[in-house]
Amino acid sequence: MDDCLKRAYDLARAYLDQLPERHVNARGNWTELQRALGGPLPETPQDPVAVIEALAANADAGLVATAGPRYFGFVTGGSVPAAVAADWLVSAWDQNVGLNVMSPAMAAIEDAAAAWLLDLFTLPKGASVGFVTGAHMANVTALAAARHEVLRRAGWDVEARGLQGAPRVHVVASVEAHTSIGAACRMVGLGAETLTRVAADDHGRMRPDNLARALEGCDGPTIVCAQAGNVNTGACDPMGAIADLTHARDGWVHVDGAFGLWAAAATPLRHLVAGVERADSWTTDGHKWLNVPYDSGIVCVAHPAAHRAAMSQTAAYLIRAEGDARDGMDWVPEASRRARAVPIYATLRTLGRSGVEDLVVRCCRLAARAADRLRGAAGVRVLNDVVLNQVLVRFDRAGSNVTDSVIARVQREGVCWVGGTTWKGERAMRVSVSGWRTTEADIDRSVEAMLR
Ligand SMILES: *Cc1c(COP(=O)(O)O)cnc(C)c1O
Repeated sequence: MDDCLKRAYDLARAYLDQLPERHVNARGNWTELQRALGGPLPETPQDPVAVIEALAANADAGLVATAGPRYFGFVTGGSVPAAVAADWLVSAWDQNVGLNVMSPAMAAIEDAAAAWLLDLFTLPKGASVGFVTGAHMANVTALAAARHEVLRRAGWDVEARGLQGAPRVHVVASVEAHTSIGAACRMVGLGAETLTRVAADDHGRMRPDNLARALEGCDGPTIVCAQAGNVNTGACDPMGAIADLTHARDGWVHVDGAFGLWAAAATPLRHLVAGVERADSWTTDGHKWLNVPYDSGIVCVAHPAAHRAAMSQTAAYLIRAEGDARDGMDWVPEASRRARAVPIYATLRTLGRSGVEDLVVRCCRLAARAADRLRGAAGVRVLNDVVLNQVLVRFDRAGSNVTDSVIARVQREGVCWVGGTTWKGERAMRVSVSGWRTTEADIDRSVEAMLR
């Protein structure tokens, strides 16, 4: 064990040391990577240290420096030191967080992290929290809880009887809702194409007047999915108006705040999600803006009974915690599970309230800096109001949109990495600033690369 871990430490150190100056994109081609990493299953045991060395050597050309300071693709934050170190301990401890009896320490850590998250986001103290793999599974979990509760209010036990013969559940979401909302609806049996879609404004925010009209057509159990943080513009739906309209009809408000919910943890940005605490469930990611390693989604539900009813399992051999002590499997779609709340715990403890706010605000300030520098250049247009950490940019030359070729060349050059999207029917570049390592100098270097 000692040799293996020491070798892994050295290899991890070497990778992290090069991260700031590494060519950001992967350099190896797919066929070479398959050849280097694949091949036949070994017939006999191999030396573990040699396996770890070969793993690192053969993966290297296909690694993308997503944790580095100039990766602006999707919404991707690198991991802070305490999060990486805590994640190593999680593997060494190898605890199963399904049941309290299997690891009371991990259950206590989940409880503490849950309380801190609710506090940061100013969500109701009594809300239940589950630690899932990502925002997508958080949406699945929240919609399962929502489905339980709106049908219970209509006199239907969906856990016992499923949706067969159940009253129709109306799910309403904006045309700008993240694709994960439709996918989550599919997984909980509500269907992706039965969603009622509500128009959005120029910034991608749900329009309350259109929501009011859509709700008039919803008789019976209703779930409204709001969004904090549009993946293109960063804009947030009007939470207070959505809560007013939905609750007036006894409906459930779910907020997909995979990255945008972090605005609630930063005083200068809180106004973007004003009223978010009035929703019934919330999704967010740790692995995006909190800068913890992957496999970190968070679901919060204001109705713990519905949350538990939708998720928990019982069997004679599953020894349950006494009283209201936490059994992790009550709040997630899994049974056995890695202690993925530990890096969240270590990160929150390291940053504290002001450190989280600083991380979030700094990313937004750097996004605004990128927008300002790009805006001044010929043939460049910033398409969104940069309210959060997302910037949408369009490049034109000789009267045509050349954004895709700019993106391809930036990716190839390797100074930074940005992705593309389609916004209002036109191709655009997406710049997402979500990592603790990014500095003003990184922004300036990246903008130069784009303009070049
Ligand atoms: C990233 C994202 C998701 C999906 O999150 P995963 O962590 O990839 O599962 C869902 N909704 C929004 C708004 C997102 O930005």
